[in-house]
Amino acid sequence: MSLQIRSYADAPGRRFPVDFHLVPPAAAFEGSDWVVNDIHVHGEAFAQLAVLYLEVKMDASMTQQCRRCLTPVAVAVTVDEPFELPILPDSDEVDPLPTALQMIETVHDPHVVCQADCRGLCPRCGANLNETPDHTCEKTDDERQTLRDFLT
Ligand SMILES: [Zn+2]
Ligand SMILES: [Zn+2]
Repeated sequence: MSLQIRSYADAPGRRFPVDFHLVPPAAAFEGSDWVVNDIHVHGEAFAQLAVLYLEVKMDASMTQQCRRCLTPVAVAVTVDEPFELPILPDSDEVDPLPTALQMIETVHDPHVVCQADCRGLCPRCGANLNETPDHTCEKTDDERQTLRDFLT
């Protein structure tokens, strides 16, 4: 997504209110265990000497995986830090998304859990132990074999 900045560049130093959403393409997170669904950018911006200064807050809604049971977990992250974007010559727009994603990646917690007492997955079969607290795993054929061998 691009931000149109002609009015900023036409009035250097003048502050404009900004309030927009960035929606990253799903492909940006292909193969990764976190996804940013939406970034609400709000605050002020101004241009000066080929730089756009964004004095904004970013509220990102993300989906991550519980590190114990791999269930998707909705996570909200706020980045409250100004940043700058270069304005390329003869360009009327900038793309804040790559920088925004970098900043969110820096502050986000990679180790979320779905609940503090998440029981995780059965190490043997991968069953979700939150859903089946009484789960006990059948022994595998290999193990039965071993036990029978031991007893005879
Ligand atoms: Zn979990
Ligand atoms: Zn199991």
